[in-house]
Amino acid sequence: FKSLLNDPSLVCEDAYVGGAWVQAKSGKTFEVTNPARGDVIARVADLTREEVAEAIAIADRERHAWAARTAKERAQILRRWFDLMMANQEDLAVIMTAEQGKPLAESRGEIAYGAAFIEWFGEEAKRIYGETIPGHQPDKRITVLRQPIGVAAGITPWNFPNAMITRKAAPALAAGCAFVVRPASETPLSALAMAKLAEEAGVPKGVFSVVTSQDASGVGKEFCENPIVRKLTFTGSTQTGRILLRQAADQVMKCSMELGGNAPFIVFDDADIDKAVEGAIMCKFRNNGQTCVCANRIYVQDGVYDEFAAKLKKAVEALKVGDGLDDGTQLGPLIAPKASEKVLDHLQDALSKGAKLLTGGDPHPLGGQFLNPTIVTDATPEMKVSTEETFGPFAPLFRFKDEAEVIALANDTIFGLASYVYARDIGRVTRMQEALEYGIVGINTGIISTEVAPFGGVKQSGLGREGSRHGIEDYLEMKYVCTSI
Ligand code: ADP
Repeated sequence: FKSLLNDPSLVCEDAYVGGAWVQAKSGKTFEVTNPARGDVIARVADLTREEVAEAIAIADRERHAWAARTAKERAQILRRWFDLMMANQEDLAVIMTAEQGKPLAESRGEIAYGAAFIEWFGEEAKRIYGETIPGHQPDKRITVLRQPIGVAAGITPWNFPNAMITRKAAPALAAGCAFVVRPASETPLSALAMAKLAEEAGVPKGVFSVVTSQDASGVGKEFCENPIVRKLTFTGSTQTGRILLRQAADQVMKCSMELGGNAPFIVFDDADIDKAVEGAIMCKFRNNGQTCVCANRIYVQDGVYDEFAAKLKKAVEALKVGDGLDDGTQLGPLIAPKASEKVLDHLQDALSKGAKLLTGGDPHPLGGQFLNPTIVTDATPEMKVSTEETFGPFAPLFRFKDEAEVIALANDTIFGLASYVYARDIGRVTRMQEALEYGIVGINTGIISTEVAPFGGVKQSGLGREGSRHGIEDYLEMKYVCTSI
C-alpha cells in the first residue's frame, strides 16, 4: 500500500511520546496486518506500562504552558492540524483502509469527519465562557471559571481509527488539556499518521502523545491508577467500559464512555419504503456493520413487511464485497476472524430458532474475513441478535403490529445509543422520538454522525457526549469563586 502514498513518511512505526518518535526500550514491536490479505504491513513499537507512565509525566509538565496560551493560539494550531489532515486526506485514507479494511470511499469520508472535530473544537476553544452570578449577600460577588481538567487519557477502538481519536483529542486540546491516547493495536498507523501531522501543525511536544502498545489492560490500569490522569475517555465495548469504570473509581476519575449499542431500525406502514431501504443499507452495512450505531434489529410493520424485505434483498444483493483498496468495493473484510465467527454464530442461532434465510449466509469466495451480507426474516426476541450487538453484515427483520408493541420491543435492551424511525405521520414521529430510550434518534435517515451534534448513549451505552458545544464540557472543570468586596 505504501506505493499508493504521496507521502510514505506518514507511515510511522515508532510511538509518539512527548514530542519524540520512540521505539520501545525493550525493542519489542507488534504486527499490524491488512485484514483483506492477512499480510503484515507494519511493526509498531510495543510500549510497556512504564513507558506510558513517562508519556503521562511529560504531558503533565507540558500542559501548563499549553493552557496558558490564548484560546486563539490554540485554535490556530488546531486549524492547521485540520488543514493538514484534509491536505493529506487521500494518504490517510489509504493507510486506514490498509490496516482496517473499510472501502477507500468510507476511509476518505472518515478522514473528513474526523478532521471536522478538530476544526469544530478549535473554533469552540474561543467560546469557553465563564459566568457571573448575582451575589447572595451585599458584599459578595460570584464568578465561575471553566478551566482545563489537566491530563486526559483516551482508549480508542479499531472501527473508526481516526475519528474516535479526534473526537477526544480535539476538545481536550481546545480546552487546554494534554492528551495521551492508546489506539487499538489493530489500527495504530492511522493514529501515528495523525500525530505526525499534529507535530507539523505545531502542537507542542507532550501535549498530544500516541502510546502504542499491545498491553491493553496494562495501559488501561496505568491510565486509571496514575494520579496525574484526571480524565479517562473511552470508546469500545460495554464490557471493557465496565472494567475501566471500576478501575477509575479508586481515583474518582471523571470518565466519558462511548460503549456498545443495539440499535433498533423501525419502519412503519406509512414510511417511504425506498428511502427506508436506502437508509437501512447505509445504517446496517456501513463499515460492514462494524459501527456502534449500526442497525442491529430491523422492525418492520405488518403492512409493508414483504415489500421492505423484497426491496432490501435486492439492494443487499447488489453490494460489492472485496478489498477496500479496489475500486467499487462497498463491503470490505471484517476486522478479525473472531468478528466473522460472531456474525456466523448470530446467524446460526437465528436459523435454529426459526428465522428464514432471505439472502446471503453462504461463504464468500474470497474467504477469510469476507462475508456475504445476509438477511433473515421472522426474527424473534429469543434470538441472540435481539440482545447482543452483531457488529457485522447480518440484518434480521422482525415483524410488528403497532406502535406500542414496537416501542416496548425497541426499548427492551440494556443499550441506548442510536435508534432509527421511518414514518411520515407527524404525531407518530413525535411520539416515537419521545418514547425511544436512546441518546440518538434518526428520523427518516440512517446516517446521524456529525461533529456539530452531541453523540452519545444512555443506559449501558455510555456516559457523556462527544461533538457539538457539549463535547468540550468533559475536558473542563468549573471553579466557583466567591469574593467579598
Ligand atoms: P472491541 O470489540 O471494539 O475491540 P473493546 O472494548 O475490546 O472493543 O476494545 C476497545 C479498545 O479497548 C481497544 O483499544 C482495546 O485494545 C481496548 N481494551 C480492551 N480491553 C481493555 C482493558 N481491559 N483495559 C483497557 N483497554 C482495553
